[in-house]
Parts: sequence; structure tokens; C-alpha cells
Amino acid sequence: MHTEEITDLLSDLAAGAITWQQALTQVTALPTAWQTPEWKRRRDALIGSSCAVCETTDGPFVLQHLLPTPTFKEVCQAVKAELRADLLVLLDDQVSEHAVAEHVGPGDERPACPTCGSVSIRERQSLTPRYLCSRGERGYHSPAGFDAPVPVRYYAKQKTTNREVALATAREFLLSVAVVAELRRRDDRIQHEATLRSLKYSLAYRSLQHTATYCKKCAFKADLPLIKRKQYA
Ligand SMILES: [Zn+2]
Ligand SMILES: [Zn+2]
Repeated sequence: MHTEEITDLLSDLAAGAITWQQALTQVTALPTAWQTPEWKRRRDALIGSSCAVCETTDGPFVLQHLLPTPTFKEVCQAVKAELRADLLVLLDDQVSEHAVAEHVGPGDERPACPTCGSVSIRERQSLTPRYLCSRGERGYHSPAGFDAPVPVRYYAKQKTTNREVALATAREFLLSVAVVAELRRRDDRIQHEATLRSLKYSLAYRSLQHTATYCKKCAFKADLPLIKRKQYA
């Protein structure tokens, strides 16, 4: 079952004696567990005589694995998601008020509706009143028309005239840029951690400890979300 080889790889990797690339290369070079005679023998010994779900005693039965077996890519994504959540908190202080204000800039002057301040207005050639506010047209205020627009500050990158909203949006943007850059810097460590976890998943799978006897129908039902996920991935 090669659990000793994988256990050795795991401790070598944890100790830094090998790289995650070497560990992955070696573990993928191992023969697939379920093709070995030992696997078949151990599996057959563990299969019971009734389904753990529907309790039928009508075979044939299979040995169902109860723990998830994510792909390496999925493990990487999980490690990254955890790290991203940590970094969002950790890097928040590093986005300075100054950088945020700089990113927002002074804004441009735009003509706006005198009633609601919206910059979504249109000028008409021959009708009066000369301007129409699109929010007014949608029923937010009446009348929708006006003769002369008022000037407002518009923050084009954040698409708003509200400075507070523009600052909050800019902070969120700068923080996400910082997080992405940090995730990229830590890419090697992410893959290292993902390899450690994958080896542990592999050991748990090969141990055949987290298994139960299922009838074919219940096994199919249990695997269906997984099959679908693989199909549409
Ligand atoms: Zn069943
Ligand atoms: Zn308006």
C-alpha cells in the first residue's frame, strides 16, 4: 500500500530534506493503491454484509470512502483561501490613508441633477426642460426634468460622487492588490503546505479506516455530487 514510503516522504518534506516538487514526483510515481493485490484483499476483508445507509442485505456491496479526497489543485485552492482570509486582516494596516486618497484623486467636475445629484443626466436639443435625470425618469423624484445642471465631484475609477464610498472602494481595491501580490510571493510555501496535506489525505485514503459498507445504489448516490463536480469542473 506504500504507506511507509508516503510517511517517509511526508516527514522528509516537513523537515525540508526534499522539496514539494520532489515529494509530488515520487508520490505520483507510486503504483495506484487500488491496483495492488493487497488492497483488494484488505478491501474484501472490510466489506460487510449489509449497507450502512439503507441496511439492505442484498449485495453486491462496495467499500465506500467517507473522507473527501480532494485533488492537488483543490488542496492548493483551500490553502490559498485560508491564507487570503488571514492576509486580508494582516495587510489592512499596510494600506495607508494617504495611498487610498491618492488612488481616489481629486475627482472631476461633472454636471449633475440638482434634485438628486446623479450624473446620469441627458441634454435634449429642442425640448424643455432641457435636461432629464435618469433616476427621475425611473420614478425616484418628480419632476425628472430641469433647466440647468449643478456641478458635482465625480470619482471616475470608483464610479461614484460620494467621496466616502469612493474611499472605501479604493481601500478594498488596494487591499486586494496587496493580498494578490503577497499570495504570489508565498506561492512556493502554498504548494509546500498543499503537498503536505495531499500526502496526509493519501495516507488516510490508503489506511482504509474511514470507510463503510455501501450497496451499489447508495454508493452511487453518495458519489453523485463528486461525479458532477468532476464533469463540470
Ligand atoms: Zn444502501
Ligand atoms: Zn435626479
